[in-house]
Amino acid sequence: MVNFNKQLCNGIDKCESNGVCIVVCALDAIENINNYPKINEDACTECELCVRNCPNRAFSL
Ligand code: SF4
Ligand code: SF4
Repeated sequence: MVNFNKQLCNGIDKCESNGVCIVVCALDAIENINNYPKINEDACTECELCVRNCPNRAFSL
């Protein structure tokens, strides 16, 4: 399961990489919910693309 640390993400509108986590997820498993990414665990295959691309290291496995 990929964990998301909300304290490390300042919100998609302030993301220095323009919400790259949502863009990079090839399975569309990350949604923008109230300006924060939300992972759909049923769709996520733990490919780690979001983990590796987030500039704030907000995701971890
Ligand atoms: S680990 Fe991969 S599949 Fe899961 S949310 Fe992140 S980018 Fe999407
Ligand atoms: S890439 Fe990281 S900092 Fe940017 S919106 Fe996604 S979780 Fe937040």
